[in-house]
Amino acid sequence: LSTADLIEEHRICVCVRKRPLNKKELTIRDLDVITIPSKDVVMVHEPKQKVDLTRYLENQTFRFDYAFDDSTTNEIVYRFTARPLVETIFERGMATCFAYGQTGSGKTHTMGGDFSGKNQDCSKGIYALAARDVFVMLKKPCYRKLELQVYATFFEIYSGKVFDLLNGKAKLRVLEDGKQQVQVVGLHERDVKCTEDVLKLIEVGNSCRTSGQTSANAHSSRSHAVFQIILRRKGKMHGKFSLIDLAGNERGADTSSADRQTRLEGAEINKSLLALKECIRALGRNKPHTPFRASKLTQVLRDSFIGENSRTCMIATISPGMTSCENTLNTLRYANRVKEF
Ligand code: ADP
Ligand code: MG
Repeated sequence: LSTADLIEEHRICVCVRKRPLNKKELTIRDLDVITIPSKDVVMVHEPKQKVDLTRYLENQTFRFDYAFDDSTTNEIVYRFTARPLVETIFERGMATCFAYGQTGSGKTHTMGGDFSGKNQDCSKGIYALAARDVFVMLKKPCYRKLELQVYATFFEIYSGKVFDLLNGKAKLRVLEDGKQQVQVVGLHERDVKCTEDVLKLIEVGNSCRTSGQTSANAHSSRSHAVFQIILRRKGKMHGKFSLIDLAGNERGADTSSADRQTRLEGAEINKSLLALKECIRALGRNKPHTPFRASKLTQVLRDSFIGENSRTCMIATISPGMTSCENTLNTLRYANRVKEF
């Protein structure tokens, strides 16, 4: 391994998570076209037809840091992805963890927890699991003596605008000062003393995020949700962990929709996901120039993409069905590019 490889290996982790076929897919007898033959390989078996109508499977193989099959729990996914980054923020670093994928592929399930049934449970999502371990770490003697304070923020980026999910979706301004510090003006930073406090905030933010939506996925699939755990020492930032439930990547293709608003939103999502990929790649190459200004998402995450001790993890979520094949391949190609230098 070269030095560059070592840096990359340390700084960027890219994983894939396959969810099980859901009721709807089972009802229409959708085929499961994804296999995970080993712990870091994903295969897509796409049914195709030749001109003479004979059928065959086109097999494509992708390799990642980890590939999680549909029997993997959030706790296990967490252990291999976000868990190592909790350490980073205690060591004065910046950490980011993204869930990237098609709408319905499991981003919110992975990050926020299970919101599908009547019993909304956010305690098993990566937001909550990371918060739990932050409070565990805080009790370690070496960190206890630092007298760190824990804060949380939760906001949404929709069509290039920022809204505070812990303050009734108040619209916030993003300012960049002369020293290139980016500030989200008026963002509510709540102090939290225990995991329970954090769970309450996640519930508040999540109901704020989904309120006023006509259909469950209408608005949230077009917005990025950012949940942050911030460590402060005597008021000064010590470390920050940003956990992001990204907009559905298929929305970036809405650029030819008949509806102008949808088109604009699609273009904005496309722009932000491309900018995100470039920022992560720049982090991996240890490049001093990071194109963070290209979108609101990357702009507000600027301080997480620079600096010696920045680490990031991407969880690409995929649907297993044949009907999602095209989107799944797009997700896997994007995730692959994030790792390529
Ligand atoms: P997204 O946020 O990417 O649009 P969701 O997280 O809302 O997708 O998931 C869509 C549906 O699939 C939800 O009902 C969710 O509970 C279910 N689901 C997602 N991932 C899994 C999984 N790994 N295991 C079981 N159910 C899942
Ligand atoms: Mg979602």
